[in-house]
Amino acid sequence: MIGVFGGTFDPPHVGHLILADEARAVLSLSTVLWVVTGIPPHKPAQPVSPVTHRLGMVERSIQGNPGFEISRIELDRPGPHFAAETLELLASAHPNQEWVYVMGEDSLVDLPNWHRPADFVQLCRSIVVLRRSQVEADLDQLEREIPGLTAKVRLLAVPLVDVSARDIRRRVQTGQPFRYLVPASVAEYIRQHRLYV
Ligand code: ATP
Repeated sequence: MIGVFGGTFDPPHVGHLILADEARAVLSLSTVLWVVTGIPPHKPAQPVSPVTHRLGMVERSIQGNPGFEISRIELDRPGPHFAAETLELLASAHPNQEWVYVMGEDSLVDLPNWHRPADFVQLCRSIVVLRRSQVEADLDQLEREIPGLTAKVRLLAVPLVDVSARDIRRRVQTGQPFRYLVPASVAEYIRQHRLYV
């Protein structure tokens, strides 16, 4: 089983790493593919750092972990990119694999607004979710909107990791500490390339 972890990763942070690592361990995933998005369909109004920087930071974040890989699948085709289509492409390239989507609870809450949510759920063997502090998923409501969803959801039993990329960008911009919210190599990258200032 392969994990698929889509994100903007602007920047990648310890919340992403804890989520991906826990998902891999709990479901014995062979790999977690970090799918770096090009133009995120759900964040059209928000300026996003150039993909070269986001890729550079994800590369540094996952370095040394043989269970993590970067996927360029959403970068090598024109956008907008939707998770259901990404999964279909992955599944047709690797027909005998099973796919586990990895996400935070805010993404789970937003799932009914995704493109073809029922197909997305169907394509996933499981959906592994780490809770987030700002939202609380109403699983009964989600099940009414996307029948079959809750049987696939696996909530991770790790403490909340109250870190977000948005908060890190704000911290960098306002000169507040951020070095322990991201891997050291990512903090260095942010400083070197003067990101978020
Ligand atoms: P932003 O603050 O810019 O919205 P983000 O920190 O949520 O970004 P994304 O790249 O949008 O990061 O997230 C990719 C995936 O990781 C999403 O499914 C998101 O829910 C999840 N995620 C990010 N941070 C956490 C966290 N601290 N705990 C659990 N899930 C998280």
